[in-house]
Formats: sequence, C-alpha cells, structure tokens
Amino acid sequence: MKKRTIWILVAAMVLTFIALFFVQVRYIRLNIAIINNQFNESVRRSLYQTISIVEENEALEYLAKTLDDDSFSGKATNQIELEEQHQLLKRRIDSLAENTDPSKSKNFISSQARKRSTIEETSRYLQEQYQQRYSRSRTILEQAVFRWLKGSEEQSISDRINFEDLNIILETALHNNGIGLPFHYSVVDKQGKVIYRYYKNVPNEQAVQNDNVYTQRLYPNEESSNPAYLQVIFPTKKEYIDHSLYIFLPSVIIVFLILIIYIVAIVIIFRQKNLNVMKNDFINNMTHELKTPISTISLAAQMLQEKGVSNMSPESLAYISNVIRDETKRLSVHVEKVLQMAIFEKENSTLKLTEIKVNTLIKDIIGSFSLKVTNKGGKIISNLKATDDLALIDEVHFTNVIFNLMDNAFKYRGEKSLILTVETYNVKDNLIITIEDNGIGISKDDQKRIFEKFYRVSTGNLHNVKGFGLGLAYVKKIVTEHKGTIKLESELNIGTKFIISIPILKNYEL
Ligand code: ADP
Repeated sequence: MKKRTIWILVAAMVLTFIALFFVQVRYIRLNIAIINNQFNESVRRSLYQTISIVEENEALEYLAKTLDDDSFSGKATNQIELEEQHQLLKRRIDSLAENTDPSKSKNFISSQARKRSTIEETSRYLQEQYQQRYSRSRTILEQAVFRWLKGSEEQSISDRINFEDLNIILETALHNNGIGLPFHYSVVDKQGKVIYRYYKNVPNEQAVQNDNVYTQRLYPNEESSNPAYLQVIFPTKKEYIDHSLYIFLPSVIIVFLILIIYIVAIVIIFRQKNLNVMKNDFINNMTHELKTPISTISLAAQMLQEKGVSNMSPESLAYISNVIRDETKRLSVHVEKVLQMAIFEKENSTLKLTEIKVNTLIKDIIGSFSLKVTNKGGKIISNLKATDDLALIDEVHFTNVIFNLMDNAFKYRGEKSLILTVETYNVKDNLIITIEDNGIGISKDDQKRIFEKFYRVSTGNLHNVKGFGLGLAYVKKIVTEHKGTIKLESELNIGTKFIISIPILKNYEL
C-alpha cells in the first residue's frame, strides 16, 4: 500500500470517528434536554391539577356546609327525603309569595282553585311553581358563593386547606403523571415563610441542599394581598435523569469499541508498513552480502581455470582453496539468515521435534565456537549441571538459537576480551539454559524491544557489527514454539545474560 493511501485512510478513520463521537454527544445531550423537559412538564401539570382540585374541594365543602345550614344540604339519599325537601322548598316559596303580597293571597288562592280544574292550567301552574323554586335555589347558591368568596379571601391558608388532603392529592397527581420520585413540598407565603412542610421518602438534610424548586401559586385567580405558594422539590431528580441515560450505555460502549478497533487497525497498518520497508532493506542488504562471496568464489574459480591447477604453486593453491572455503562459509551463514527470515512467514510451527540431550548439543556447539572466541583472546566457561537434559527439540533450529546467542555475545563483546559463560540446570520440570557475556550490555529501553523483528540497538552500528536485527526475533520465536520462555538480564558495559527455559521430557515419559 502506498504511503499516501495509508495516510488518507488514517485521516478518514480519524475524521469519521470524530464525527461519530460528536453526533453521539449531541444525541445524548438532546435526550437529556428532552427527558428534563418531560419531567418538568409532568411536574407542572401535576401541580396545576393539584391546585385545581384543592380549589374545587374547598368550594364543594363550603357549599355543602352552607346548604346544610339552610336545611338544604343536597345530601338526599332516598325518595322520601327528596319528597320532604321538595315540600320544604314549596312551603318556603309559598310563604315567600304570601309574605310579599298578603292582600292578593286570598284572591290568588280562590282564583287558583277555580283555574286548577283543567289539566292545561294545572301544568302551567306546576311550571310556574318549579320556575319559582329554581330561581330561589339559584339565589341561595349565588348568595352562598358570594359569601364564600368574600369570606375565603380573609381566611388564612391553613384554615382553608386541609394539608393531609393536600398530601394525598399532590401524591396522586404526581403518580398519575408518571412521577414516582421521592419529593418534599412546602406551602409558603409571599415572604417565603413556611406554612406547611411535607417529606415523602426524603431524609430532611438531603432535602435542604437541593435548589431545583417547582413553584405554583395556590388560588391563582384570587387577587389576594398575601398569596400562598406550593413549592415542590425532588432531591433525586438529577440521579433520575442520569439514570435514564443508561439506555445509551450500549451505544457508548460500541463507540469505544470502534475507537479501539480503529487504533488497533492503524497500529497494525503502520507496523505492517514499517515491516515492509525493513523487509525490503533486508532483501537489498542480503543480495549485496550474497553477491560478494559469490563473486569472490567465481574469481577464484576463474583463476584456477586460467592458470590450470598443475601450473600453480602449492601456496597459491592453498590460498585460493582457503578463499573458497571462507567465502562458502560466509555464503552458508547468509543462506541460514534467509532461512531464518523465512521462518517468520510461516503461521504454523514447522519444527521437527526429536528427543535430544541438550547438554550434549550445547557441548558440540561450544566445541565448534570456541576457536573463534579463543582466537580473539576470549574464553568460554561451560557449566552444564542439568541432570534432566532430555527434551523434545528441533535440532537444527535449536542449534541456531544457541549459536545466535553465542554469536551475539561475540559480536557485541566491545573492547574487552570475551568471557562467555554457558550454564544449564533444572528448575522443577524445566531445563534452564543461560548464556552470559561481559560485553557492551543493553540499556533498559532497548531491552523492551530487543526481541522485535528488525530491531537493532543504534549503538550496535557504532561497533561496526553487521546484522539485520533478526537474530533475537528468531530466537524468541523458536523458543516459544518449543513451549519455552526467554528473558534477559543486562547492564550497560557490564554484560548480558539470556535465560532460556524449556520443558524437559520427564513429564512425557511413562
Ligand atoms: P543483529 O545482531 O543482527 O543486529 P539481533 O536480533 O541478534 O540482531 O540483536 C538485536 C540487537 O540486540 C543488536 O543490534 C544488538 O545491539 C543487541 N544485542 C544482542 N545481543 C547482545 C549482547 N549479547 N550484548 C549486547 N547487545 C546485544
């Protein structure tokens, strides 16, 4: 993939995520506002319903009382009582008529008696009677209402309202409007003086702190000089609204998952990109490295061909054969590197595991390696104490592992003469192999990345040591495939110790 394409892809990912994030935030904010408004609306409706009912109740109660005083309570429960009330009313109206015009009463009655003889007249008479009764009742009611209006404005709120009823009315109204939160309310006067206070499921101290107050004037249609207000507070309203946001939890989680997936994808893309660059470098370097021995060998072959073996002095022959041997050795080392590189491409392990005595294997490697070390004035100390050293290993790859580590110790020995210590011992069912040197060491930061593919310590170049940064990555991969672990202890200018642990075969023996 081209660098440009990668950057466009990354930019698109970042932009879409930012857009998604802001849309989400907006959506949540909008919902908070809607939930809040709905709540406020429900509370206001409840309060309005409450004060309407309170007003109605007061009026009804007063009327009932007033009419009761006037011996007309309206509380007739059966037909007989109804009849009695009708009679009472009729008598009252009659007496009222007599009282207003006593002189006419006699004539009135006698003329009525005469007229009552026909059905038509009787019905008209009854109609008139009812009309009179109706207008009288209306007058009584109007007078009562007037008296009530006049009287109630002068009465104090605590006399007008039955607070126990108010508790129930308010609670029911809130409940009917879908609000079941704990609340407390107060009835206060204009100056804010509390006339009555009620707590529903709310501890007192919690109530004091909250300032989210819903206020509704009691008797809003009266022009009183000292109006009273109903104030309701929901101390847990914020929690309620926060709680209702839990429905967004899945979408928030999904957004974060998308973020994580995006980050992982971006990291993988860049890693892959870097790996590609490094791989190309490796191939370029390797081709160059392979070319040199090949051209030297072909040159030697050419010399042999041109001069003819029989015409050459034994010294030149020895020289040419030495060159060919050294160069083929170099070639085989490079080919081995390419093979090691190829190992990383394979997903599945391709180890050919056989039962091998690790002590013997290491002894052999030390044998072939010691000449190189002693030539440079160094020495190898071997301390192979492991008693159980039989393990299931791939001989070729495991030899490479040990060889790589020893070769690194040699390459990064610095100015000092190398003291290479190789040890084996058993810990539980594991075989531990340590390879320790007194070389240049590895800094703490580098230690973290040393097993990464193509990672090289920058000072490695200072020591003019050729390498591709593949050796330790290969070592780690092979050890892991042997179900083992590898770690290192190192200090700059003091030395490095690699510790490999692999399971021994003891467990599998039956
Ligand atoms: P290469 O040797 O090809 O560079 P390696 O993977 O074998 O790659 O090593 C990675 C880096 O680790 C090297 O560049 C070197 O700086 C550092 N390193 C490895 N082994 C040692 C050691 N024994 N002492 C000091 N540094 C080491």
